[in-house]
Amino acid sequence: MRVLKFGGTSLANGKRFRNVSSIIVAKRQQVPIAVVLSAPAGVTNALLHAVERCRAGESAETILAGIESQARQLLKELPLPDEVSQRREEQLTANLAELSGLLQGVALLRECPRRIQARILAFGERLSVLCMQGLLESQGQKVQRLHPESLLVATHQGNGDEALIDIDASRERFSELALDSEGLYLMEGFIAGDTDGELLTLGRNGSDYSAAALAVCIHAECCEIWTDVDGVYNCDPGLVSDARLLKHLSYQEAMELSYFGARVLHPKTIAPIAQYQIPCHICNSWHPEQSGTLIDHRSGAADEPVKAISELTEMAMITLSGPGMKGMVGMAGRVFSAVSRARVSVALITQSSSEYSISFCIHQRDVATTEHALREEFELEFNSHRLDDIDVLSDLAIISLIGDGMRTNKGIAARFFTALSQIAVNIIAIAQGSSERSLSAVIKRDKVQEAVKSCHQNFFVSFKTIDLVLIGCGGVGSALLEQIRRQQQTLAEQQLRIRVIALGSSKKMVVDADGIELENWRELAEQSTQPFELERIRTLVKQHHLINPVIADCTADEGIAHQYLGFMQAGFHVVTPNKIANTADLEYYQLLRQVALTCKRRLMYEATVGAGLPVIENLQNLLRAGDQLKSFRGILSGSLSYIFGCLDEGLSFSASVRKAYEKGFTEPDPRIDLSGLDVTRKVLILARESGRMLSLADIQCESVLPESFDSSGCVDEFMARLPELDDYFSESFARAQSSNSVLRYVAEIEGDQCRVGLREVPLSDPLYGIREGENALAFYSLYYQPIPLVLRGYGAGCEVTAAGVFSDLMRIIR
Ligand code: ADP
Ligand code: ASP
Ligand code: MG
Repeated sequence: MRVLKFGGTSLANGKRFRNVSSIIVAKRQQVPIAVVLSAPAGVTNALLHAVERCRAGESAETILAGIESQARQLLKELPLPDEVSQRREEQLTANLAELSGLLQGVALLRECPRRIQARILAFGERLSVLCMQGLLESQGQKVQRLHPESLLVATHQGNGDEALIDIDASRERFSELALDSEGLYLMEGFIAGDTDGELLTLGRNGSDYSAAALAVCIHAECCEIWTDVDGVYNCDPGLVSDARLLKHLSYQEAMELSYFGARVLHPKTIAPIAQYQIPCHICNSWHPEQSGTLIDHRSGAADEPVKAISELTEMAMITLSGPGMKGMVGMAGRVFSAVSRARVSVALITQSSSEYSISFCIHQRDVATTEHALREEFELEFNSHRLDDIDVLSDLAIISLIGDGMRTNKGIAARFFTALSQIAVNIIAIAQGSSERSLSAVIKRDKVQEAVKSCHQNFFVSFKTIDLVLIGCGGVGSALLEQIRRQQQTLAEQQLRIRVIALGSSKKMVVDADGIELENWRELAEQSTQPFELERIRTLVKQHHLINPVIADCTADEGIAHQYLGFMQAGFHVVTPNKIANTADLEYYQLLRQVALTCKRRLMYEATVGAGLPVIENLQNLLRAGDQLKSFRGILSGSLSYIFGCLDEGLSFSASVRKAYEKGFTEPDPRIDLSGLDVTRKVLILARESGRMLSLADIQCESVLPESFDSSGCVDEFMARLPELDDYFSESFARAQSSNSVLRYVAEIEGDQCRVGLREVPLSDPLYGIREGENALAFYSLYYQPIPLVLRGYGAGCEVTAAGVFSDLMRIIR
């Protein structure tokens, strides 16, 4: 015989009942079966809700009316012959009357004894059996009933409403039954009876447990659990969209998984079937053809150390500590005896090796009972201050890794903790199951979803994703979007993905947590009516439990640069070509780095110097390797590189500036380039990077334009006045030429001095040939001297700047 259990999700309405009945009939044609049914989806919740209201002395009439209409609608949706339908209707009416009477009694008494609650909750499972029996019989099936209240013997455990089935006593009762080996049996799940025949419930999801007990009692060849997913996944598929289906689990793995919270199986389901070696098959009632998950005696493969991740929420941690704990024999025994006498179940235990404290996790609802039990047990010790006061931490969760292969594999714990630290989750306690099949960490409850996602990423997913928020869709921002769009395919081949989840311009923004279509981001941005709100972007990470969110600031905005702290604190990595934060006052500069460290977020700014050239990365790598920057000389402005290159070719200064301006190589106002401020910022970034904690004011900046020159007015007026400088520059140029040199606008670091200004650069200098917008950076260091490390290439323009930002994104993703 086989046992088939159908959960509430498979029995949500008439259509689902018909679907289940056809699975039953098909299976019955192959083997004799016993079917266990849960309540239709939502009914147990509604019943519990009704009990709560009545207990509070409130009316449960609307809830009851809802249950009645769901039940009647269900019956109506079943294709039953009139007389069958009528009989079932009558029975339903009687059941509803009993239910209503019980609830009224509860409302009157304002309390609900456990056995009364069991009778109320049993309504749901009875409703399922009532409907299914009618449906099967009307299809010509001979159905026999098994009554759990008299066959499954159970006793109460703990404070919750979870009874424990006495398998031996139940087997004895079944042995007195002469089961028809050709039969089709039907039984309510979730309920059992105590030795006096009083009804008990088996806890939420208890029908799985009923099915397992039944399978053992009738010596079934297999226990099939039919639900709404394809089987057991490596983590809750409702939490992680790319969770993986597991083809096989050992009994031990399944036990740990359900114990640590995987709702797909009630935690007590596996023990009986493991003891009697009955295979368990998890199947999808929507897709009966799928192979599902098989749970049996074979153990998990050693090459697959971590099989699954699960989480328990609504937990609290109790810590008992004090001088009296140390070396006192039997302390742990007394703690857990007291807790067990209070019928509280302990999910996890840790003890410090100094024996100074014992911590354990329990369900949140058991906190008061546990505290009371401990106070009673240790009254003397508390009074004499040999124990400190009981410490309770609430709103916790336990996240666990599970797998048979964890016993023989090293480094799992390290990867586990890395995955948690990547998302800045604080680990409150850890515990390893003595079987080494599970490893658990206690964390804050509000972090659990991110934690599961991050562990899943680290242990199972080779695909890495960055969730990108782009602020500023101007030249650099739009070039970046285009590069991301073009590279999508190539990135996917390398198992990488950049998902743009928000785009903000100064006024509007577009948000889509599933990723914005990059084919038409411009139209989407234009059509958007959503005003730009940084707060909305901040809450996005929380809402969607993003584990790798990045903000790319492609603006030149001071206000945004001053929000990087907040971004990192909200969980974002920050990538930017914007020089403002890195050249702001030293206090902010240093605070940013501290916060990045404490929040485990990265602040990346490769594109602030030399655009796409790998300047910052190389410098950082050198310094990490013990090198020291002695001095530096560089051409850090693409516009000035272009302008002074034109002078080499014989153009006048004013013509050179105009040519650069007309080709779009300068800022819209060329005075910004000519003032040297931009270069000053860049050299300050390099100076700080190399350990020189200077400020903008410490850098000697000589403008390209002589002080005596009147640079006032609008751009046109300024440009019209420029020829006045032509003689000055041609004389300077001639002087330089006479000593085989050219004029270049150079940034220099020498010891602790930084200067920016026009220099004569001789032929032997690496900066001599730099023109046409090229940048060059010569680093003279401990390792690189007298010949410097030179980086050169285009160092301006949207395309290369965006490429610099892109390379930072790649560094984060890897
Ligand atoms: P039923 O009504 O069939 O008893 P449940 O809702 O009790 O269904 O259990 C199935 C649900 O368990 C799935 O829909 C899924 O959301 C959840 N679940 C949690 N963890 C897992 C997991 N590791 N594998 C599969 N499902 C899981
Ligand atoms: N109907 C019960 C519940 O909702 C039992 C079950 O579905 O397994 O918890
Ligand atoms: Mg269930």
